[in-house]
Amino acid sequence: MTCKEAESLVMDYIRHDMDLQTMEEFLEHIDGCENCQEELEIYYTVEAGIRQLDADTDTDRYNIKGDMEADIMASRQHIYNMRFLSILRYAANTLIVMSVTVMLLLQIRIWWQTGIF
Ligand SMILES: [Zn+2]
Repeated sequence: MTCKEAESLVMDYIRHDMDLQTMEEFLEHIDGCENCQEELEIYYTVEAGIRQLDADTDTDRYNIKGDMEADIMASRQHIYNMRFLSILRYAANTLIVMSVTVMLLLQIRIWWQTGIF
């Protein structure tokens, strides 16, 4: 992912409005690119500030950077969970296909032994 692409995705990320693949690539870029990290931080701060104005919460206790880091960590965890689930699904599918194949072969053997073929 290029910086230009990452920059255009910053708002989508903050609003959690992107698919998993894009999010993964985005976070990967953010990890290795200081400029985009800064960019995200700025947008995040602005967005959080607006939300804060709307909610009229106590500003002293508010930790925007910590919030952003927690947000990124949650995203990573989400990506990890989803990947784990898809591996699990893949493994289950493979097992099912193998089981059905073995059952079919055994059934054919039974038919063959009983002289149907
Ligand atoms: Zn960048």
